Amino acid sequence: MKKTRYSQDEWMEMGEKRKQQICTDAQLISDEFPSVKVITVRYKRETTSFERSMDKDWQALKRGSMDKFCLFIPCINCTCVEWGYFDMRKKIKEAIVSRLLSCEGTMNCEGWEDAERVDTFHCPSSVQYEISIDYV
Ligand SMILES: [Zn+2]
Repeated sequence: MKKTRYSQDEWMEMGEKRKQQICTDAQLISDEFPSVKVITVRYKRETTSFERSMDKDWQALKRGSMDKFCLFIPCINCTCVEWGYFDMRKKIKEAIVSRLLSCEGTMNCEGWEDAERVDTFHCPSSVQYEISIDYV
């Protein structure tokens, strides 16, 4: 089914709003996972879109127990729509439920390449990640 057509700016705004809503609704890490002290996600992104690019170095996001449980890696493709980021919450949750100290993997972006290509071209970006969990 074809989606309503939105402009690039409208898509960006919707993506940003959704992210903010998730962060507003999120619980504190200490409430959701009382056994967790620090969550660290290291990542390296790349895209094969026409503006082919990749991160030179690993980057890192860190959250402590008093932070809210919302953690997103921005998609490296700056025109990515729906939603322009990788939501790491599910992978982190899985790691904590299994009591893992770390886990790693690769994720493909679930967005579209840009506003013109919604429903036709998936965003060709991916992220390589390493999640580390420090427990209390
Ligand atoms: Zn993307």
